[in-house]
Amino acid sequence: MNKQLIDPFGRTVEYIRLSVTDRCDLRCFYCLPGDYRDFSEPEEWLSFDEIERVIRAFTTLGVRRVRVTGGEPLVRKNLPTLVTQLSNISGLDDLSLRTNAVGLSRQATALKTAGISRINVSLDSLRPERFKDITKGNLDKVISGLMTAKQAGFSPIKINMVIMKGVNDDEVEDMIEFCIEHDFTLRFIETMPVGDTGRSATSYYLSLQDVKNRLAERYELIPGVMPGGGPARYVQVAGTSLRIGFITPISQHFCETCNRVRLAVDGTLYLCLGQEHKFEFRPLLRAGISDSDLLEAARTAITLKPERHEFLEKPQQVVRFMARTGG
Ligand code: SAM
Repeated sequence: MNKQLIDPFGRTVEYIRLSVTDRCDLRCFYCLPGDYRDFSEPEEWLSFDEIERVIRAFTTLGVRRVRVTGGEPLVRKNLPTLVTQLSNISGLDDLSLRTNAVGLSRQATALKTAGISRINVSLDSLRPERFKDITKGNLDKVISGLMTAKQAGFSPIKINMVIMKGVNDDEVEDMIEFCIEHDFTLRFIETMPVGDTGRSATSYYLSLQDVKNRLAERYELIPGVMPGGGPARYVQVAGTSLRIGFITPISQHFCETCNRVRLAVDGTLYLCLGQEHKFEFRPLLRAGISDSDLLEAARTAITLKPERHEFLEKPQQVVRFMARTGG
């Protein structure tokens, strides 16, 4: 059996973003509308056993890495139980979590014990009022979640900051100092036109090339460190252990090296963050598909992966909100 998933453009798919809920306890203005209610219903959610089956099938075909995301993954009940199930899948080498950290002080230790090795935390501002304006949430909870995660031994902890002109671009240096102090890795992200909210937020778009040029005036940035399995292009800040990754889907897209697909909580596999190409696993699972047919279905799904996103050419393209696939 061929143990690799190769898409029509010759790219090997070895990474799944796994959304365990589309619900979130924050309302970042560029992600989900404040009054959004159109979440998927619990009967549509894949059960933990269904998720395990799909991930097991993909792992059999060469997927090595899974990042648990949402919505906000920590609002899915009993998440550590799912993590334990996934961490027992042989061949899955890397199980990580993407979270807003609001609930992390309660769950960090249980998630570490269950098998999450690395976490990425979204944090757009270190100023309580501004954080509230952006997310409607409470910064104290996030900081305490982060500190609990640090104590629990997660390493590395990566901070993801969406940079928006006139919103938080004046905090880039503060975030750098914060990450140096706590030994976190920092990643900057450009706003993307995903959903109506994401499209409105592109009025705050700032090219990360400009941010990098600005930082280069103040810091010595050593390029090329830590080539990860993902899209971030890293630099190291000389004289510190800080690494900064730039994720530039708009100013310099990285589709030619895309190695990932995204499984939504209702069993829809999205083949690209910037396109609507998809494959539905839930009907197959609930119709009692066999393990061997599930492998075939996974292979078929990958044949649908498009070449690239078209955020610039067709910004209206993606109607779903980012909370559906978790970034
Ligand atoms: N709740 C988790 C979190 O906060 O990390 C996971 C889901 S959240 C949708 C994943 C990431 O997508 C967050 O870092 C968020 O800032 C980012 N995001 C949401 N909408 C975006 C947009 N329009 N452009 C760029 N990033 C976006």
